[in-house]
Amino acid sequence: MLNLLNIYKNEFSKTKKSLGQHFLINQHYIEKILDAAYVSKDSRVLEIGPGCGALTVKILERGADLTAIEIDAVLVDFLKRYLHFYPNFKIIHSDFTKIDKSLLDGRYNVVGNLPYYVSVPILEKCTELIENINTMTFMFQKEVADRIISTPSKKSYSSLSVFCQYFFDIKKIFNISGGNFWPTTKVESTVLHFIPKKRQFDMDEKDFLNLVKLSFSSKRKMLKNNLHSIIDTGLINEFFKRDNVRAEELSVEDFINFYNFLKNAK
Ligand code: SAM
Repeated sequence: MLNLLNIYKNEFSKTKKSLGQHFLINQHYIEKILDAAYVSKDSRVLEIGPGCGALTVKILERGADLTAIEIDAVLVDFLKRYLHFYPNFKIIHSDFTKIDKSLLDGRYNVVGNLPYYVSVPILEKCTELIENINTMTFMFQKEVADRIISTPSKKSYSSLSVFCQYFFDIKKIFNISGGNFWPTTKVESTVLHFIPKKRQFDMDEKDFLNLVKLSFSSKRKMLKNNLHSIIDTGLINEFFKRDNVRAEELSVEDFINFYNFLKNAK
């Protein structure tokens, strides 16, 4: 088995913290992530941030067709040097949040132990590329994962929860502690699995997501205070039959129904 981590450590001895570089060293969890992502010889995989190849090598050993996107030129060069003999491997040197849709063709199982400083922009980018996505299996800082899968009335419920659950069905796979990385992390991490949902295509999604964001803009405030600049607040009472509604009480379906009601009321 190719151990790129040891080769990397010998060549470079440190990682770039500013790029969120904490490399997964526990083989058990690597296999678990790839099982959750359904990586097999028949899959086409897109890996975000391959680092020094912890998941990459295993994906290639399983025989999947892999495109990896890495922002750090040193790591791109490193992986090209050691993995060039795999015919099923392609690596693109780019910031994932800036990639052009035309680079992708067909549908991918997307995987990544995401760089935590940019995990939300990466999720936003994935919604732009959603037509090219079969599934996504991502590792997040645990607090962010908790917000993503949170439900109404929980403290962690936020516009990020509604945003993610609007686009995807999401399942928690496992938590993992910081000792499973080099260098170790102080925070706990969580792996989540995402499947794109069927959506209502006649909806202006940008407008809908703006409504969601504004509804949560001041979390403790009621909808009538957060939305007064964009809607006639009397419509809140008309739809919910009360006017003391807060965003944190509303499910994704509640938001969709409220948005459709507002559109028809205009
Ligand atoms: N997948 C490897 C692992 O599990 O060991 C590395 C994970 S490390 C947490 C995140 C990786 O994402 C790093 O290699 C980092 O250089 C890369 N990265 C950071 N920002 C990125 C971006 N905007 N686009 C693509 N890759 C990025």
